[in-house]
Amino acid sequence: MSEIELGECEMTRTTPSRPVDVEAVFPELSGHALTTTRLHPRRGNPSIHDSSVGGPLLWPEDEPWPVCAEVHRKDRGELLAHVREARRMRDDFRRRGTDPNDEERERWEALEKRGRYAPDVRPEDPIPLLAVGQFYARGIPGLEAPSGCDLLQVLWCPFERHDGHQVHLRLVWRSTADVGKPLATLPEFPVVGREGYVPSPCVVHPETVREHQYVELLPADLQAKVDRWTNWDDEDSPDYQSDLSVAPGWKIGGFAAWNVTGPGEVPAHCGRSMRLLLTIATHEWDGGNRIWVPVEDQRSTGIRGANIPTDISVSRWGKMYVFVCAEDAYHPHWIITQ
Ligand SMILES: [Zn+2]
Ligand SMILES: [Zn+2]
Repeated sequence: MSEIELGECEMTRTTPSRPVDVEAVFPELSGHALTTTRLHPRRGNPSIHDSSVGGPLLWPEDEPWPVCAEVHRKDRGELLAHVREARRMRDDFRRRGTDPNDEERERWEALEKRGRYAPDVRPEDPIPLLAVGQFYARGIPGLEAPSGCDLLQVLWCPFERHDGHQVHLRLVWRSTADVGKPLATLPEFPVVGREGYVPSPCVVHPETVREHQYVELLPADLQAKVDRWTNWDDEDSPDYQSDLSVAPGWKIGGFAAWNVTGPGEVPAHCGRSMRLLLTIATHEWDGGNRIWVPVEDQRSTGIRGANIPTDISVSRWGKMYVFVCAEDAYHPHWIITQ
């Protein structure tokens, strides 16, 4: 497998047009549509000046790095350095197209061993959060930053099982003009609770697409019409839910798909409504949504791992939706996993 097959050299991503113009079939759907930006993260070498997943953040040298001070075990897990080395080995195996030899297999297994790698760190000790990604408003249509800000940065604690919520995620809104000297080396805690919290560096290829509200959240009469229109007997005929409503993968804005739990409450603590800010996804595509695979990636769909470019794996079902208050993005966010 060459780098080109991984898609690293392609500059843009183009979602194929939908098999049917569903708003021509149901004009009232235009009231339940949004423009969404698919981020299309793909492996690369982003700098602090790029939007990225798993790349370095533009962080002022004189600003404290955020920490997780919640009480939970922090001494045991996998070593971050091991996670990264194992991934380099895996990428080599894939590129080579052969299985690891005995020596490599032994090393590989050693790298995956969990252990008490930070015996001196107590549950109440603060540890630096891990950078997940950053997104510049200039290159990402639909990224609505609060007044005066043009950059969204996302960090999380690399351990799960926080009290009352699984993931400890932090959103930072920033004005790039206010960043003086940037921090050269981002702090990292050497142990991670779960390998799936560690992103591999990806650049993004923002592309706007039109999405339509998740079927169960459409008005009842429209839902019934869509249901009657769907030809359930013909596998090849368009299916609203998988083909025409919500795009898979990482994205900014748009709609959530509630396949796992059915539509859930997204309460803003201030009583106002919330909007979907960011979707963090394990898979960019899977067997059920190949119709959304960008033209540039279609020859890569058979390559193992090509649909998990960030190496992040969230929740059992692979989607983490980060909602923010529609009135004030600084109000507490809300996370739903599906
Ligand atoms: Zn934590
Ligand atoms: Zn609010």
